[in-house]
Amino acid sequence: MLSNYIYIVNFKSNWQLIPPVILKLEEPERRHHTCIEFTVRGFPHPTLRWLYKGQEIQSPYIRTEMDNYQDYLEGCLTFENPTHYDNGNYTLVATNPLGSVSKTVFGHFLEAPPFLDEEDPTPGNDANRPEEDSFGMSIAVGLAGFGCVFLIVMFVLINKYGRRNKFGMKGPVAVISGEEDSASPLHHVNHGIVTPCALDAGPDAVVIGMSRFPVLENPQYFRHGHTCNKPTTHVQHVNRRDIVLKRELGEGAFGKVFLAECYNLSPTKDKMLVAVKTLKDPTMAARKDFQREAELLTNLQHEHIVKFYGVCVDGDPLIMVFEYMKHGDLNKFLRAHGPDSTILVDGHPMQSSGELGLSQMLHVATQIAAGMVYLSSQHFVHRDLATRNCLVGNGLLVKIGDFGMSRDIYSMDYYRVGGHTMLPIRWMPPESIMYRKFSTESDVWSFGVIMWEIFTYGKQPWFQLSNNEVIECITQGRVLDRPRLCPKEVYDLMLGCWQREPQQRLNIKDIQKVLYALGKATPVYLDILG
Ligand code: ADP
Repeated sequence: MLSNYIYIVNFKSNWQLIPPVILKLEEPERRHHTCIEFTVRGFPHPTLRWLYKGQEIQSPYIRTEMDNYQDYLEGCLTFENPTHYDNGNYTLVATNPLGSVSKTVFGHFLEAPPFLDEEDPTPGNDANRPEEDSFGMSIAVGLAGFGCVFLIVMFVLINKYGRRNKFGMKGPVAVISGEEDSASPLHHVNHGIVTPCALDAGPDAVVIGMSRFPVLENPQYFRHGHTCNKPTTHVQHVNRRDIVLKRELGEGAFGKVFLAECYNLSPTKDKMLVAVKTLKDPTMAARKDFQREAELLTNLQHEHIVKFYGVCVDGDPLIMVFEYMKHGDLNKFLRAHGPDSTILVDGHPMQSSGELGLSQMLHVATQIAAGMVYLSSQHFVHRDLATRNCLVGNGLLVKIGDFGMSRDIYSMDYYRVGGHTMLPIRWMPPESIMYRKFSTESDVWSFGVIMWEIFTYGKQPWFQLSNNEVIECITQGRVLDRPRLCPKEVYDLMLGCWQREPQQRLNIKDIQKVLYALGKATPVYLDILG
C-alpha cells in the first residue's frame, strides 16, 4: 500500500508542462486503410482539431478515436467507407495552454472512377462531400456532352437499323449462367415513375412492366432446357368471379396487390387466401408477354419460391394469383424485428418485442439459399435478389417472391441509368455494374448482400454512401463491413460471396450447407465477437 502511494507521488512530481508536438501523422495506405494515425505529445493533453480544405471536419462518418497516455495521445482519424470525395489534405491542429501546432498529411483513399456522371437520386450524401474541383468538373461536363451526342447518334442508328424494341434490348437475352447481357434493364422508369414499359412499346418490345429481367425470349424456358422439354407450359386460368378481393396489401409498380379469397383453386379447400397482383389497361403486346411470364412462373416450383397459382386474363385488369405470405416482404419484416423498431399501440410508439435472434437469422438465410440452389439448378439467373424481393409467411417460412415486378416504395434501392433503366447496384458485383454481366455467380454476390441485410435488420447496404460512391467502392474492391451482430463464420461466407472473380465465389449449394450447419450448432459455438 505504502509503496504504491509513494510511487504515485513520485510519478506525479515527474509531470512537467510540455507544449504540443505532433510526433506522428501518417498517410493512410491507399484503398486498405481507413485511418490517419497520429501521435501527439503534450501536457496538459492538447485538444485536437481536424481540418479538411480549411474547414473543421464535422461528419458522422469521420471521427477521432484515441487513447490517452501520461503525456501523449495516440489514435486514428477514422473514416467510414471513404471514397475519392475524401481524398485531400488533412490538417491536425493540437493546442494546449503552452501553444498550438499543426501538421498536414495527404489522404488518398480511392481513385475517382472514370464513368461517374450519372444523376444520383440518393439525397443528402453528396451534400456532405467536398466539391469536385472545377477543372475536373469541366472535363466531366465536356465528356458528358460528347457522350450525349454519341448516344443520340447511336439511338438514331439503332432505331433505324437494329430495332428489336423500344429500349434497345437485344433479342434473346441471356439469363443462363455465364452468358452476357449487355442490356439488362431491370426496371424502366418514366419521369421518375416506374411504369410498365410495354404499354407504350412496339410489338417487339419486352414487357418490363411485368418482367424486370427479360424472360420473354429466354431460350432456357421457352425453347430448350430442363423445364422446356415440355412443348408448352400449361398456365392455370382462374375465373374472375372466383376471386373476391378483401383488402389492399401494397402498391406494386404496375397496379395494386390485394389480399383475396379464391374459390375452386385447391381440390381440398373450397376457398383459400391468395395475393393477387394486377396490371391495368394492358396493350395486346402486354397481354402476350404477361402470358409468357405466367409460363415462366408456372415452371418455377419449389418450397422456397413463392407459389404461383395462375392468371386471370378475361377482361381488365390482368391478374396474377400467388400464395399469400402473411408477413409481407422480408425487408419490412427485418426492420420490424430489429432493435430500433417501434410499433404503434393506441397511436403511441412502443418498443416492438420480437427481435430476431441469431438462429432465426440463420434460418431465414438458409431458406433463401435453398431457393437459390433450386434456381441455379434450373440455370435461372434472378438478377435482383434482395430482401425486398423475398416474402415471409407463417412460422418464419421465407420464399423468394418477386420475379419481375418492381416497386415504387423501394425505388431508392435502384440506380437509374440513362433515364430508363433502374439497377439495384448496391446488390450487384463489379462485373454486373461495369459490364452488365449477370450469372449464377452474380446472384451469389447478391446473396452475400442479403445475408448482410439480414444481420443488420434490413439496413440498406452502403446506406451512408450515394449511388455514385457505391459504384466507386464496389468496382474498386471494397466490401461491406461486418455487421455488429454477425458471427465470424457468417461474415466469412459473405466474403466468399464477394470475391471479385466470379469463379472464385462460393457456390450456393456449399453456402446453404454451411448456413444449415451453423443454424444447427449451438449459438455458443459461434464466434459472435471474434
Ligand atoms: P410489384 O412487384 O408489382 O411492385 P410487389 O411484389 O412489390 O408488387 O408487392 C407490393 C407489396 O405487396 C409488397 O411490399 C408486399 O408486402 C405485398 N405482397 C406482394 N406479394 C405478396 C404475397 N404473395 N403475399 C403477401 N404480400 C405480398
